[in-house]
Amino acid sequence: MFDLVIRNGTVFDGSGGPRCVADVAVQDGKIAAVGPGLGAGRREIDAAGLVVAPGFVDIHTHYDGQATWDPFVTPSSWHGVTTTVFGNCGVGFAPVRPGASGYLINLMEGVEDIPGTVLSEGVKFDWESFPQYLDALDSMRRAVDVAAQLPHGALRFYVMGERGAEHAEVPDEREIEKMARLTEQALRAGAMGFTTSRTTKHKARDGRFTPSLSARESELLGIARGMKRAGRGVLQVNSDFGPGEFEALEAAAAEAGRPLSCLLVQVDAQPKLWRETLDQIHGVRRAGRAANAQVGSRPIGVMMGLETTAHPFAAHPAWLEMRRLSPAERYTRLAADGELRRRLLETPAGDGPSAFMAQSFHKMFPVGDRPDYEPDAENSIAAIAQRSGRTPQAVALEEMMALGGKGLLMLPFENYAYGSLDVVHEMITDPATVLGVADGGAHVGVICDASSPTSLLTLWGRDRTRGPKLPLEFLIAKQTRGTAEAYGLLDRGLLAPGHKADINVIDFDALSLKRPEVVYDLPAGGRRLIQRATGYRHTFNAGVETVHNDELTGERPGRLVRGAQVSLS
Ligand SMILES: [Zn+2]
Repeated sequence: MFDLVIRNGTVFDGSGGPRCVADVAVQDGKIAAVGPGLGAGRREIDAAGLVVAPGFVDIHTHYDGQATWDPFVTPSSWHGVTTTVFGNCGVGFAPVRPGASGYLINLMEGVEDIPGTVLSEGVKFDWESFPQYLDALDSMRRAVDVAAQLPHGALRFYVMGERGAEHAEVPDEREIEKMARLTEQALRAGAMGFTTSRTTKHKARDGRFTPSLSARESELLGIARGMKRAGRGVLQVNSDFGPGEFEALEAAAAEAGRPLSCLLVQVDAQPKLWRETLDQIHGVRRAGRAANAQVGSRPIGVMMGLETTAHPFAAHPAWLEMRRLSPAERYTRLAADGELRRRLLETPAGDGPSAFMAQSFHKMFPVGDRPDYEPDAENSIAAIAQRSGRTPQAVALEEMMALGGKGLLMLPFENYAYGSLDVVHEMITDPATVLGVADGGAHVGVICDASSPTSLLTLWGRDRTRGPKLPLEFLIAKQTRGTAEAYGLLDRGLLAPGHKADINVIDFDALSLKRPEVVYDLPAGGRRLIQRATGYRHTFNAGVETVHNDELTGERPGRLVRGAQVSLS
């Protein structure tokens, strides 16, 4: 008798092949059989009319800290995700010298917008080396599997000390060899890869650029030699891809003999640059080396409300006067004081952030009960203002004050230069791309794109009206086998005998995202945006049910994944 049989579901096995109605049987945490009329199970689930798919694998998250205090790894675990990979973009928390965690917190706070107070309170830092960090992760069970990568920022600071925090400082030969040795050590202990950042978007809280910004070829190649000696791991990068940047990173990946994975988004300032980078990635692949672009399935959605980090009035003197008030007090005052609201609506002269916001109302959108991730310009704050004969500021303030001050606006920040997701369609259908910009655990006061696996299915598989949709077979494969393969996690992402029984049972007709909300549930009462979904009837990790009817069950079968895994079928 099987442990579990999921009966008569519409099975999407993760390979991209056609769907079929079948049973899925689970035994000892693994898929035992997929096919019609399988034998009995101790537990049986009637999945007639439901989608049965592998658990989602999210390779671009920043749960480096959260995974040490939160066994449930939300929001990702609410969205069918059963494996998360973190340590991306060159930031993370190991290696770290005793007493030197302050800089890493400062860097993570600045780069990924995770409050320093949350990190100081939440992360114990009872490790020094990367292998010790892995052991700390390994000592806890979670709702999802986790996997970590070695971040360049932490490595550089560990080896070079304070000098390492300055991106223009150049390590000497001895330091480069030490970085190589520690990289080899981390990968052998189970790091999934080495990650680095070369983007001016990334600054530490203290205003300094991210430490790996301009690391020279000698440093990159030295680290690459460490990767080569280990013979494992992915080289993941977040870069602005200025002149010569791709070439330098590609040279390092070639030296390492390891796959190159580049974060790729469309930026407003250079809306065609992503295509050049993608062409370069194709060039690498044609030369027989492994490379991919990590792309998103929707815009980077900056959420703006009275309780988020950014909103149209956040830099306004009248707003700043209220900075010591609690969110509830601020809202009460705003609601009661017409003169205060009138002052807020006047754009102060010459102020950078406010002026930027004042120019952005045409691409700011109210967020409804069912958020629209491809909003039409006709529904922008500017358009609503024009139609109703008010100022955009007045409309924005009214929207944010709705729902007792919980109303939100969305500013599609990247992937939306042309006001539609046509470029995203091009990105996700390109064979050289994998999904990976969801950023779970990061930018917690600004975005909540960790829900992307859900909108991938609802938007592209069902709801899109402004352009072509995509087959569910393709979409599910992209978030399962596609992402798993990018990191060599060949034991999952496929519903086939011998594979890990990470399974989603989804009521696709009911699947939808709720409105994002601001909550204060991080350590030290820290604030974050979360977003729930409906339609996840069951999520299983290694055959154990972690989500039932959209709620976590409290089960914690998830483990630390150390390095690439072999295919089990
Ligand atoms: Zn990132």
